Amino acid sequence: MIFLKTDEEIELMRESNRLVGMTLGEMAKYIKPGVTPAQLDKIAKEFIMDHGAIPSFLGYKGAPGTVDFPGAICASVNEQVVHGFPTDYVLKDGDIISVDCGTEKNGFCGDSAYTFCVGEVAEDVKALLRTTKESLYQGIQKAVEGNRIGDISDAVQTYCEKRGYSVVRELVGHGIGRKMHEAPEVPNYGKRGTGPLLKKGMCIAIEPMINMGSKNVVFESDGWTVRTRDRKPSAHFEHTVAIRQGKADILSTFEFIEAVLGNNAI
Ligand code: MG
Ligand code: MG
Repeated sequence: MIFLKTDEEIELMRESNRLVGMTLGEMAKYIKPGVTPAQLDKIAKEFIMDHGAIPSFLGYKGAPGTVDFPGAICASVNEQVVHGFPTDYVLKDGDIISVDCGTEKNGFCGDSAYTFCVGEVAEDVKALLRTTKESLYQGIQKAVEGNRIGDISDAVQTYCEKRGYSVVRELVGHGIGRKMHEAPEVPNYGKRGTGPLLKKGMCIAIEPMINMGSKNVVFESDGWTVRTRDRKPSAHFEHTVAIRQGKADILSTFEFIEAVLGNNAI
């Protein structure tokens, strides 16, 4: 079932998503060679709780037989696509790290992700990041009343594949609201004019996961971490948006990241 949100509910979602954006801005301050994802996770967790919210990912139930998610952020390094644990790995010059963050405040969820460069990153990897981020906005442009989910999917897929990258199939974007994951699914691949109709008040998280090499991924034995099979880098950018007439309303924000990184932002 797809829940449509009232304008009041969308404003509450904007608040949760703004806090996610602020938290990612904090991450931008600390991401550099020598730092560990575990340290970033501690900063994110305290920051979210200090702002009266719940870090939604912490304790998130996994598949049967796997541990609950151990962090407030997903921290996925280099060939890791998503759902990386915040480990004690020491970030080094040239790495990339995708940070995915979720909050719950006033009963509503926020969800946004950004792939950061650690120190000086190779040009071809930066190009992957840039294309993935741009593909997110290509998808967002299609996220308007009267279109279909497939219009978003096609926009992301076409943009990335034209540039020689591949789209992960096993993981998709999603509806979001009182729960982090609601209907409908929002794949990053698909056909125009197909899938659920977009209606005013729908809120969805659009989140391209794009690989430099092949689209194939492997699930690690921890039950969570997803990495590319060929171990080439993968990028992940995500916004939560509300469907409106004419133009999507982006509820999450990269403004706090960009304020920290300035001209070095991807
Ligand atoms: Mg996310
Ligand atoms: Mg999401």
